[in-house]
Amino acid sequence: MSVLQIGAGGVGGVVAHKLAMNAKTFGEITLASRTLSKCQEIAKSVLEKTGVQIQCKSVDADSVDELVALINEIKPKVVINVALPYQDLSIMEACLRTKTHYLDTANYEHPDTAKFEYKEQWAFDKAYKEAGIFALLGSGFDPGVTNVFCAYAQKHYFDEIHSIDILDCNAGDHGYPFATNFNPEINLREVSSKGRYWQEGKWIETEPMEIMQVWDYPEIGEKDSYLLYHEELESLVKNIKGLKRIRFFMTFSQNYLNHMRCLENVGMLRIDEVEHNGSKIIPIQFLKTLLPDPASLAGRTIGKTNIGCYITGLKDGKEKTIYIYNVCDHQECYKEVNSQAISYTTGVPAMIGAKLIVEGKWGGEGVFNMEELDPDPFMEELNTQGLPWKVLEF
Ligand code: NDP
Repeated sequence: MSVLQIGAGGVGGVVAHKLAMNAKTFGEITLASRTLSKCQEIAKSVLEKTGVQIQCKSVDADSVDELVALINEIKPKVVINVALPYQDLSIMEACLRTKTHYLDTANYEHPDTAKFEYKEQWAFDKAYKEAGIFALLGSGFDPGVTNVFCAYAQKHYFDEIHSIDILDCNAGDHGYPFATNFNPEINLREVSSKGRYWQEGKWIETEPMEIMQVWDYPEIGEKDSYLLYHEELESLVKNIKGLKRIRFFMTFSQNYLNHMRCLENVGMLRIDEVEHNGSKIIPIQFLKTLLPDPASLAGRTIGKTNIGCYITGLKDGKEKTIYIYNVCDHQECYKEVNSQAISYTTGVPAMIGAKLIVEGKWGGEGVFNMEELDPDPFMEELNTQGLPWKVLEF
């Protein structure tokens, strides 16, 4: 038995530690990324914390040929993609060519367009079916656990779900004037884009940060939360029958928003090439170089996250509302795996998805989103692997 993880950033660090903590299930663990030294740093921490030795490799995940060679060498049961969304298609293609199961945490984004959608990944469905392999898309927290929460609510709490509000609150404080909790380029592209939600069969577009609502988060309190478009909306609209409205909200402080608006106004969020002193640079990539590495926020971030789904609908003819959520503490994550909670809440579900695939509890032929699988084994694993959840019934 062996498993191949690609990507050694903030999320990658958590996945590697969690794979090692479940080494009996995964067998030989190989961590590959573009920069070998980052894999080696993670491997050192994994060895210190768990006593498990993981293998390190360098790979350019934009090259299908390099990936195929690596997969053929390792022969993993599943490839866990926690590199960047830009690499999704090349890694899916390499898995197809080698007939290997695939898992990721974020849907494909083209580097030149700040837009994400499942179209290109869903297009692999027929080929994956023919090859008899399984692709699990979006096995992070949101997307990921939020999709599983919806499937669990559908299975155990409702006959019909009418509305879903996915709420993502990070009440952590890292002490820097400005930093992002995961890859700055991906994060800033997402939050500076137009908002979008789905109601009565139609997508409704909003200006960035146009809709603000105050939500009261258990164990945290009231926070300004802004409507964003988020990728799980696309698959949940397709897979939760009877849905009338679905929205996604994320908390931001005024300080974060002021910095972001200023960076946008001066052109630092541009994703096209500009001439600078005779060479070409992409402003948002240069900004990434200047900002703190998200992995370095671990250790200095205090506070908690609360991410969950506020769901309304009908049960036995009566109206019902629940909030199903997880609370995660930044400092606890640091103690366990040297990470902050955003990377932790993404990395743990990636490991759980892979574990269910390896154990044969989740599988199939083709390309799947999380809510299409039985939520129960995943929900059980969340409770034992560090992300316990609660349900409030109103
Ligand atoms: P980081 O930028 O910290 O790490 C990305 C890693 O991918 C780095 O190790 C980087 O290597 C590697 N990488 C980039 N390009 C290549 C390439 N061509 N070949 C090989 N390796 C490459 O990102 P995060 O860890 O913060 O995020 C990882 C993923 O998790 C992203 O896709 C992000 O969107 C997703 N995510 C999902 C969430 C969810 O809840 N579903 C929440 C948060 C993040 P190098 O160091 O050499 O650049």
